[in-house]
Amino acid sequence: MDDGQDLLENFCPHIDKVFLSALWANGIQHVGQSFEGGASEFRNVLRKYAVECGFRFKFVKNDSVRITAVCTIRESRGCMWLVHVRVLHANGFFYLRKWNNEHICGVAIRTPKNPRASSDLVSDVICERVRDKPLTRPTDVVYDLKKDYGLEVSYRVAWLGVEKARGEMFGAHFISFDQLRWYSSVVMENNPGSYINIEYDEQNYHFIRYFISFKACIDGFNHCRPLLFLDGTFLKGKFKGNLLAATAKDGNQDRHAGLLESIPIIFSTAKHAFCLQHLQRNLKDKLRYVNSSYRSVMLAKFRACAYAPTVAAFNQSMEEFTKCGRKVVPIFLKDLPPYYWANAYFQGSRYDEMSSNAIESFNSWIREARHLPITQMIDSIRAKIMRQMAKRRRKANAWAGVICPKMEARLVKAYNKGRSWLVSQSNDDVYEVHFFPSVMVDVGRCTCSCFKWQINDFPCAHAVVAIRNSGLDLYKLVISYYHVAEYQNSYAQNITPIPTVEKPQFDSADFVIHTPAVKRPPGRPKKKRMLSKGEQVQQIRCGRCQRIGNHNRKTCKEPI
Ligand SMILES: [Zn+2]
Ligand SMILES: [Zn+2]
Ligand SMILES: [Zn+2]
Repeated sequence: MDDGQDLLENFCPHIDKVFLSALWANGIQHVGQSFEGGASEFRNVLRKYAVECGFRFKFVKNDSVRITAVCTIRESRGCMWLVHVRVLHANGFFYLRKWNNEHICGVAIRTPKNPRASSDLVSDVICERVRDKPLTRPTDVVYDLKKDYGLEVSYRVAWLGVEKARGEMFGAHFISFDQLRWYSSVVMENNPGSYINIEYDEQNYHFIRYFISFKACIDGFNHCRPLLFLDGTFLKGKFKGNLLAATAKDGNQDRHAGLLESIPIIFSTAKHAFCLQHLQRNLKDKLRYVNSSYRSVMLAKFRACAYAPTVAAFNQSMEEFTKCGRKVVPIFLKDLPPYYWANAYFQGSRYDEMSSNAIESFNSWIREARHLPITQMIDSIRAKIMRQMAKRRRKANAWAGVICPKMEARLVKAYNKGRSWLVSQSNDDVYEVHFFPSVMVDVGRCTCSCFKWQINDFPCAHAVVAIRNSGLDLYKLVISYYHVAEYQNSYAQNITPIPTVEKPQFDSADFVIHTPAVKRPPGRPKKKRMLSKGEQVQQIRCGRCQRIGNHNRKTCKEPI
């Protein structure tokens, strides 16, 4: 045993960390080595190599046909380290011609700070990540570079790196519109039966709009309630624009991004209703100068009108609503005929859905994707829908009941509510449920005089009690959309992944579809979500200044 061995090291609690940058030291290997990406690839490799090997270099020659770099202390201390590469005109590759890999400067100690750890290097390291997460923050980059690469970069360098990586993405934004042609044909190949439509200006080839609906979603929608939730959201990329989405709800009454379709197509044939939540916000805005208790009374009265199940009930609620707000109500209702928003007048089934919460959650679901170039955005939404459909398919296969769990729970609740009610039969189908006020249920026509069964297309508590009493099969009177079998059908098909390996190289000379004809407005782009009118900002306490407000430690600008 060697007594001179230093055992102290064994007690160090830190595990030797292998940085992701360790491979950078292999970037330059031997004379004759080729760099197929030419000058830019070699510069990139050299930068990483110098950072990892811990020395500094400077360029003696640096152009598109040759690059020569030497150690920075060549003159002062005579270190002869040198590398020289030259282009081969036949193929445009760079080849390593000369390499003196010996430093006498004793610098072969890696330092976390190297001026070559520039924003170019940062951009190169994080560009993959920015592609997936366009909202990558410079502070995270600073932290990760230290953790994964052992490099210390300033916030400014990290910020520049993120901006540069995004700049590459803007290039991607530019070609992304033409990529749609390629993407569409691959989608049709892998998901036959999908519906896609690209529209662009025939004269100047500017992109206009794109429509896509995957076959699996179209099939799935046939097993969902025939109800679409529509909304638009602004895109955040270089060329802005809107994303219009239509989503459906499945039988388990959960949110579900099943279908993307544009509004005019649906509205031409279907009954449509306005979202109650949006209408309420609108009304609130009209009442912004009145005191808050009066405002909440008005809102409650308006809700009563919207939910009123019968024309008589609607008229009564309407009278109270109008009486309460003589000035504001006529203005508010000017372009709002009741058949767009009131239960009593709406001609389609609303299935108990008064507001389009389904789509609001879809919008938050795609928040990050909105920053991507159009083709990548569509494909990332595609991937998300694909994953979710697979997840629900797995989940539903384990359900043993007849009705989807959430709706089953509703039936149980309705049954418990009506257990004390007396039921008397009138004929084969018609029952009277004694309660105050007592109601009439017709199990043959699926109606109840409380109107809830007709409006929601789902048995109300009275109906559940009457059906139990009649000995009929309750499940047979629940429309098929709420059955587990239909739920399973809506997720039976799957979206086939889109392979990106064979994506052709795009040459701007061959572009058919150009970017849309828009200009970005001047000024720094806003990255913060603008709140809709009347939407509340949550008040939080700042950990730095301890004040209540809408900022936190990170965004705090208060003097302390
Ligand atoms: Zn040297
Ligand atoms: Zn009822
Ligand atoms: Zn603060």
